[in-house]
Amino acid sequence: MEKAGNEELMRRIRELKEEAGATILAHNYQRKEVQEVADFVGDSLELSRKAASVKAKLIVFCGVRFMAETAAIVNPNATVLLPDACAGCPLADMIDENILAEWKKDHPRAKVVCYINSSAAVKAMSDICCTSANAIKIVQRLRGEEVIFIPDENLGRYVSSKTGKKLILYPGFCPTHLVLRPEMLLAMKEKHPNAKTIVHPECRSDVIDLADAALSTSQMLHFAKESDAHEFIVGTEIGLIHRLELENPSKSFYAASSLLVCPNMKRTTLEKVVECIERQRHVIEVPKEIRVGAARAIEEMLVE
Ligand code: SF4
Repeated sequence: MEKAGNEELMRRIRELKEEAGATILAHNYQRKEVQEVADFVGDSLELSRKAASVKAKLIVFCGVRFMAETAAIVNPNATVLLPDACAGCPLADMIDENILAEWKKDHPRAKVVCYINSSAAVKAMSDICCTSANAIKIVQRLRGEEVIFIPDENLGRYVSSKTGKKLILYPGFCPTHLVLRPEMLLAMKEKHPNAKTIVHPECRSDVIDLADAALSTSQMLHFAKESDAHEFIVGTEIGLIHRLELENPSKSFYAASSLLVCPNMKRTTLEKVVECIERQRHVIEVPKEIRVGAARAIEEMLVE
C-alpha cells in the first residue's frame, strides 16, 4: 500500500521536475525513496560541486538548511527550494556570527576553518570552508598558521590527530553521531568479528579509536567498494546503508546502532518534495552581503 503511494508520488515528482526544469539533489542521509527520486545523491562536498555546476534554473535540495544555503551561494542563478523549511542542523546552530566574532577577537591572528555544517553568515566570517571529506587537506594547506576550527569538535580533534597540527577547537557536536558509544561498537564487533568498522569523524574520539577507518560518507562508499571484506559495521547516519547496499549487492552492511538517525534529514518526504515544487515554496534566500563572503570561503575550499 505504502509502496504504491510512493510510486505514485515519485511519478508525480518526475512530471513536476520535467515541467519546472528542476534538478533534485539529495544527501546520502536522506530517506531511501527520496534518494531514489533524486538526480544526484552525494555528500556535502559532492553536492556543493554539483550545485555549482548544474544548469537547471530550479534546484530542489533534499537535505538540511545549510546545504540548501550552500547551493544558493554557489549557484546564484538558480532558485533553491528546501522541501521542509524546518530541516535544520543542530550542529550548525551551535555557533553564530556573534560567538564567532568573540573567538576571532580572542585569536586575532588565527585563520578560521569552518566546517560546511554552518550558517551562511558564519561561513562569510570564515577564511575557508571544509567538509569531512577534505578537512585534513584544507588544514594541511594552512601550514604554520594558527587555526580556529569550527563548529565540530570531534572532527577538529580527528583532523588535528591526522595533521599533527594543534587547532583551537570549538565545542560543537552532532547529536546524531554522538549517540554512538564505544560499548555499542564493541558489541557490534563481537557480533560480526569479520566485519570492517567504518565510522564518521563526527563520532567521539574513543569510537574512532575502535574503528578500522574514520571516513566521510563518500569515502565510506569508496572504501566498501575497494575492500576485500564482505561485511562492514557502519558508524554514521543509517541513510547511507541504502547506497552502500545498492552499490555493493554481494556485501553486508550493519548499522553500528539503530539510533544513528538524524531527525532533520528524515523530515524530507516525497509528499513534501511534491508540495514544494507545485507551490514553489521554501525558497532559500541568502542576502547579497552574506552571499559574497560565504562564496569566497566555499570557493577557497573548492580550489584544488
Ligand atoms: Fe547535522 Fe548531524 Fe544531522 Fe548531519 S547528521 S545534519 S551534522 S545533526
